[in-house]
Amino acid sequence: MRTLIKYLIHPTILVIYMTIAYKFYAQVHPFLLLLSLVLINLTFLWFLEWLIPFKKKWKMDKKGFLVNLKYFGINAAADSLGKLSAIFIAMKLTAGTVDLPLYYSVPLAVIALEFFGYWIHRSTHQDGLLWRVHSIHHTPNKIFTWNNNKMHPLNIVLLKIGRLTSLIVIGFSAETIFLATTFALLQNYISHVNADIRGGLLSYIIGTPELHRLHHSTNREEALNYSAVIPYWDMIFGTFLNQQEVESIGVHNPEDYPNEIKQELLFPFRKGV
Ligand SMILES: [Zn+2]
Repeated sequence: MRTLIKYLIHPTILVIYMTIAYKFYAQVHPFLLLLSLVLINLTFLWFLEWLIPFKKKWKMDKKGFLVNLKYFGINAAADSLGKLSAIFIAMKLTAGTVDLPLYYSVPLAVIALEFFGYWIHRSTHQDGLLWRVHSIHHTPNKIFTWNNNKMHPLNIVLLKIGRLTSLIVIGFSAETIFLATTFALLQNYISHVNADIRGGLLSYIIGTPELHRLHHSTNREEALNYSAVIPYWDMIFGTFLNQQEVESIGVHNPEDYPNEIKQELLFPFRKGV
């Protein structure tokens, strides 16, 4: 029974969150609705990390909380900048119109945004400037839901422009884009959770913590699964890996990377690595 519950948690909370997002979209300001869902999601995931941790040694400490709180604030600004840039770029391009019911348009929008997200993320794993931008997300030697925030603001802007511009240009409605991007954001927090919730067959339908913690492996053979939201593009492009255990978390040469926020923010502009 306990094991069955562990399999049901992930799909159940997603259904609840998306029902709330759909029901309240017309009544609550999108920003407030998104913020409320993020906070509900975080509270529940923190509760799971306390109740059924996947690895006790990956528990979030005070330093981990504070560092990620700072990144949360910095990246809220980066997110807005990315959004404005995406709208500006999209206005310059011819937009189509996708006239489909939400139950078709939202999954299609998620698949489309993750196509661009997949290739942007995969390119940031090549050595050079893009890796220096992305690597600070991989330097922690443990993975928990709150360190989903630990991203360089340039990484956030890049992802926002790549994913959002394409959705606007394709012609998805504002409601579809809101529901699809909300789903993706909530999924990113869930996929980082340090809780013993199981994927099983779900790992072939959406991104699960089992799949994404492999992406954070120090072992490059395991560090696949570039999409934390859905696994299809990894399956199609040969980077899908599904296994329960992960060797260890982090980068294989941590001494080459900074571990303080100011240095991390300057890291892309430094030579080397
Ligand atoms: Zn990565």
